[in-house]
Amino acid sequence: MDMQGTVDAIADAMAGETDRGAVARYIPELAKVDPARFGIAVATADGGLYAAGDARVPFSIQSVSKVFTLALALGQRGDALWRRVGREPSGHAFNSILQLEHEAGLPRNPFINAGALVVTDTILEGHQPREVLGELLRFVRAASGDEAIHIDEAVAASEQRTGHRNTALAEFMAAHGNMVNPVALTCGTYFHQCAIEMTCVQLALAGRFLVGAGDGPHLVAPPRMRRILALMMTCGHYDASGDFAYRVGLPGKSGVGGGILVIAPGRASVAVWSPGLNRNGNSALGTRAVERLARETGWSVFE
Ligand code: GLN
Repeated sequence: MDMQGTVDAIADAMAGETDRGAVARYIPELAKVDPARFGIAVATADGGLYAAGDARVPFSIQSVSKVFTLALALGQRGDALWRRVGREPSGHAFNSILQLEHEAGLPRNPFINAGALVVTDTILEGHQPREVLGELLRFVRAASGDEAIHIDEAVAASEQRTGHRNTALAEFMAAHGNMVNPVALTCGTYFHQCAIEMTCVQLALAGRFLVGAGDGPHLVAPPRMRRILALMMTCGHYDASGDFAYRVGLPGKSGVGGGILVIAPGRASVAVWSPGLNRNGNSALGTRAVERLARETGWSVFE
């Protein structure tokens, strides 16, 4: 099929959409991003790269970073990680504290904020934040083959100043004995990992480590890859994970910067970006774009 024609047509269609959702405002630096942006990039297992729209404009990957930290934590701890975080969808908002009280400080999964804070706390144990962030950047740079990827310090500082909710989640888990490091260090590391800046092209290339075919980077063994993908399918879009699976049929992970990383196992890694979010905090146009891409390519895992 004509993949370049397909992504061009999707970018054209998205440019004409008027219902674009709302840009995240609770991190002041993210509120400045132009809602008219839309980018898409597809990196195929056979080495192809197809990009359209704002695919080379950097954005804040935010919660998409949780895929990379999960890969690192599983690499270091293996199944012991599951003593501190579950692997069930939450059915609650990404930053909800409700369930944590009922479930005694054990977060439902590694992709909601509470679970991601635990994952970051795990890889921080015995290290300095700067070492962990260095390792994370090395992983992302190796995955994408791009040494230029970096952290946007202004975004990290912006979230640090306003991150009361995440601090509350971490303090609550600390009260239940589910934080190893000082809360300020774990939260500071988490805010920086979320502030990694990437383009759709860089993110699509980085996602190849989860495609499991072709000559993408071999950073994670296949059994672990399948587990990360299962978690992306069931938990990658918070309380809209079921809706995303229904509409797209592919594992994906979203972030409040408006980015989504989607994996078509054995076929391709896809990154989309549009900063306007739907009411679940996932990119409105990004979701529509990958829904259309999955339909036109027949890439749904249920096809
Ligand atoms: N840094 C953001 C937060 O913790 C990430 C959330 C997201 O992308 N959904 O609120």
